[in-house]
Amino acid sequence: EHDSSSPHIVMVPTPGIGHLIPLVECAKRIVQISSIQISIVVPTKGPPTQQQRSVLAALPEERVTSTFLPSVNLDDEVPPNTKMETIICLTVVRSLPALRDHLRGLQGSHHNLTALVVDLFGTDAFDIGMCLSLFLHLPQLDAQVSCEFKDMHEPIQLPGCIPVHGKDLVDPLQDRTNDAYKWLLHHCKRYKLADGILVNSFNKLEEGALKILQNHESGTPPIYPVGPLVQTGSGDNAKVDGSECLKWLDEQPRESVLFVSFGSGGTLSYNQILELAHGLEISQQKFLWVLRSPNDETFNATYFSIQGNRNDPLVFLPKGFLDRTKEQGLVIPMWAPQIKVLSHAAIAGFLSHCGWNSILESVVNGVPLIAWPLYAEQKMNAIMLTKGMNVAIRPNVDEKGLISREEIAKIVKRLMDFEEGKVIRNQVNDLMDAAARAVGEDGSSTKALYEVDGSECLKWLDEQPRESVSFVS
Ligand code: UDP
Repeated sequence: EHDSSSPHIVMVPTPGIGHLIPLVECAKRIVQISSIQISIVVPTKGPPTQQQRSVLAALPEERVTSTFLPSVNLDDEVPPNTKMETIICLTVVRSLPALRDHLRGLQGSHHNLTALVVDLFGTDAFDIGMCLSLFLHLPQLDAQVSCEFKDMHEPIQLPGCIPVHGKDLVDPLQDRTNDAYKWLLHHCKRYKLADGILVNSFNKLEEGALKILQNHESGTPPIYPVGPLVQTGSGDNAKVDGSECLKWLDEQPRESVLFVSFGSGGTLSYNQILELAHGLEISQQKFLWVLRSPNDETFNATYFSIQGNRNDPLVFLPKGFLDRTKEQGLVIPMWAPQIKVLSHAAIAGFLSHCGWNSILESVVNGVPLIAWPLYAEQKMNAIMLTKGMNVAIRPNVDEKGLISREEIAKIVKRLMDFEEGKVIRNQVNDLMDAAARAVGEDGSSTKALYEVDGSECLKWLDEQPRESVSFVS
């Protein structure tokens, strides 16, 4: 049973495994350093997935409970090309009545509810200093700029951040007439209502942006960099296929393998899969590739006769590829135990779609990256990784919008080559040490988390008469 006197926090992650993981880690950190109880309440559109269950299974049950809200139905409002951000926001809005009921239930059973932690509109971007800075300024940008941001000639200079061109801003800012933009603007305008904002980043990683955010400008809530929050010990991952790839990694030499993966949902076009396959093969470097079926129909089924099951992504590889590369690499369909892979001694580099969790996981394991952004805020992340942190290199996209096999082979060789890769390898190792310090006992992120906890007592002091309280410590 719950201890009704200890403070109780309710956390509401927005849909997407990449949103759930950092919030779960945040909950684990909070219960480590305080007596706070936590309920994680998950809005859903459809039955809970095996991955969600596995992430939640890693929680210490006595202190953190989790509940899936009843699945909402969006059939009436989401035509096929609806943006991800719109779907996420609608899922949360439709879940509000059930969330209210749940909160009332907790209150009814005498839980001492003290805070609601929300992932405000559910893009991963909220976790990142640079993106937070962008969102805090969005209402202003919206009022000042009349054209599409992508048509602006000059890059946008956010305080403390690297300049970014409009076309590289987060996806929902690419079309200001789309509902996804309106949702984002709506939420950005409401940021000021929060009592504080937790950022899944750490001072050394985004020094410029975070320093300015923490000097809080008037009207901005206090900002707490509490990261990196990366998945530690997972639940019953046994059911998630992938142990085969760990066994394979055990057999590879130290720092010899490139890990290739595009996050929990990233996919490539059929032609891009072919280029990537050929590029990896030409590079002659070892690779471990998490492959998904293509996201388009650019192949013609009449002359491209697929042998076997079309749901099996391996059938989309070039003819004979698996045979030719059986000594060089391993392709696994759909999903890998990424944390375990990145911490494996055989891994030398990570070709990544630049999701924020993937970046943090790479940094805490000292793995340099090849930046291959796909969607959401990933283009901004790729710019930070290459120009700001200097822990990644980025391939060029050709006029057809493809990254060619020659370009891939060249960039893979550059990263894996010991001499050339050395500079970014050193840089990422420095950041790895800084990350460990940040979440260590006296680290900046640990202190920030304590401050969040302490702000309550400062507020209480504000309400007391002058010189009326004794401080006992
Ligand atoms: N992930 C994993 N195995 C996979 C793909 C993804 O374990 O095959 C995990 C990964 O470790 C990370 C999360 O899923 O924690 C993906 O989050 P990220 O922010 O990198 O990208 P998103 O999926 O949100 O685009």
